[in-house]
This record gives sequence, structure tokens and C-alpha cells, in this order.
Amino acid sequence: MPASSVKEMAVIGAGTMGAGIAYTAAVNGIDVFQIDVADTALDRARSYHAKTFDRSVQKQRLAAEDAKAAAARITYTASMAEAKTAGWVVEAATEAVDLKKKIFGQMAEVFAPGVVLATNTSSISITDIAAAVPDRAERVIGMHFFNPVPVMKLVEVIRGLATTDATVTETIALAERMGKTAIPANDRAGFVSNRVLMPMINEAFYAWMEGVAEPEHIDEIMKLGCNFPMGPLRLADFIGLDVCHDIMMVLHRELGQDKYFPCPKLRQLVVAGRLGDKTGGGVYASG
Ligand code: NAD
Repeated sequence: MPASSVKEMAVIGAGTMGAGIAYTAAVNGIDVFQIDVADTALDRARSYHAKTFDRSVQKQRLAAEDAKAAAARITYTASMAEAKTAGWVVEAATEAVDLKKKIFGQMAEVFAPGVVLATNTSSISITDIAAAVPDRAERVIGMHFFNPVPVMKLVEVIRGLATTDATVTETIALAERMGKTAIPANDRAGFVSNRVLMPMINEAFYAWMEGVAEPEHIDEIMKLGCNFPMGPLRLADFIGLDVCHDIMMVLHRELGQDKYFPCPKLRQLVVAGRLGDKTGGGVYASG
């Protein structure tokens, strides 16, 4: 397979995932526009990048001059238009189908025809998102990274109904250039990873709500008993409780079974604004 020749990438959304994708692209020699509508998110991404570059140098994963060069490759902006020269776009905004469709409509206006419009959605149908840009649907694809992006090796690659073979091939090549292993999954809600993971996390909230055990014990049992590196409630704090909730809502709506309805305990924390590590507390008091 030919190596990816992407020079400039736009990453839309500077939250947990967008910041990680931008960092990983920059470290692998790609110029990045990190875009977000919220200044606070851009500031957080900037400080996350500074910290992550520092840590990589300390741990000798990156030479100091390479870290400096990679940091200089990232431009932070609230304007999608500023990124119009980019040859690849990854959308990593909030997990809401209407929002993503709106953003894809804007992307189709800003970026040149032929540019791949990828989404990092965890659960929403790629075909559904592509329907917002019917003239560009063959270049729309799911490029699902995992958290934390600089560390996690997997990219789940999901083609929509109209996605071409060329788009898939280029996506796999780019994922590999970013140091990842690309594995295909079909376009059903949650794909493979979240179809399996999220109901388990949701069930852990039920176990907590029903008093089967306290969160610490639920997590320790799953760690020691199932050899998980992290218990499901701790993982939920790490992912973001709002993200877990939104994914369950998509599974519920698309797969049409009650078992996918978000646990009331999960909903309660989300409504209270306790979203996990990103807000300084979720299931646990701090991340
Ligand atoms: P997040 O809440 O940390 O960040 C989302 C960002 O999108 C916010 O900063 C928000 O300001 C921004 N945003 C909202 N509307 C926007 C717009 N119109 N233009 C630009 N930016 C906009 O969420 P996240 O955890 O980074 O998740 C982002 C996407 O990645 C979601 O689709 C999610 O399902 C997916 N995902 C999340 C994880 C995870 O572990 N958190 C893993 C894989 C995939």
C-alpha cells in the first residue's frame, strides 16, 4: 500500500479526542489545524499538548528538537475557513448526529472536492452523516481513534454505503502513518468497540445503582477477575460520562432495544455536570 501523502490535516473539535488526534498527527510530521468553537477547549488542547510534549521528551520517546518541531506544526483556531488548504479532515466534535451533520455541511463548503471527510464518531452511522453531504459521500468515512490517542494503537475504519475503496485505502495508509493499526468494522450503531464496551459500562452503573457493590469494588472485581487494565466505572470517568450517555442513546435509538437505555445513575451524573476526569470528577471525586 502506498504511504499516506497527507501534508495538512484539519481536526474539528479540540476536546479529549480532537486534541489527541492533533498531537499524534503533528508528531508524525503532519501540519494540523486544531479547530473548536469554544476558546476554553482550544486553551485546554494547547496545555494538554505542551504537557504531553514535555512528558514525551522526559521519557525519551521524542527528542527535544522533534517535540519543538511537532508543536510548531499545530495551529489553533476557531475558524474552519482558516484550514481550507487541508488535504484531510477528521471531525471529532460532540457526539450528536444533528451537530455532526451540520459540521459536515460546513466541511463540504470549506474543503476542496476530493478531500476525505472523516469522522471520529463512536457510534453514529457513517451513512447517516454522509447523507448531509450527498455530493461528497464517497469521501466520507469513519476513522475511529481510541483514548488516549497518542497511546492506543487501534483505529476502527468504517465505510458508509457510498464510501469508495480508494477512500478506505487512503484512510488505512494515514492511520498507519500515525502509528496505528487499522481494523475494519461495518456501519452498525457503535461499530464493534462500543457495541460491546458501552453496554458493559452501562451495566456497571446498574450494578452500582442496585447496590450490588460500591464503585471501587465493581472496578477491582472487573480488573482482577477479568484482567481488565481499568475497571468499567473508572474507564467511564476517563472516556467522559456524557460521551458514554450519548453513545448509549445512539445504540438505543438505532438498535431499538430497551437494554441499551442509559442507566438512570449515569444520566443523573451527566445532568449534574459530573462528566468524569474532564470536569474533575464523575463516578470518582477526581480523575
Ligand atoms: P469532548 O466533549 O471532549 O469534545 C468535543 C469538542 O467538540 C468540544 O470541545 C466542543 O466545544 C467541540 N465542538 C462542539 N461543536 C463544535 C463545532 N461546531 N465545531 C467545532 N468544535 C465543536 O468529546 P470527545 O470525547 O473528544 O469526543 C469527540 C468525538 O469523539 C465524539 O464523536 C465521541 O463519540 C468520539 N470518541 C470519543 C472517545 C472518548 O473516549 N472520549 C473515544 C473515541 C471516539
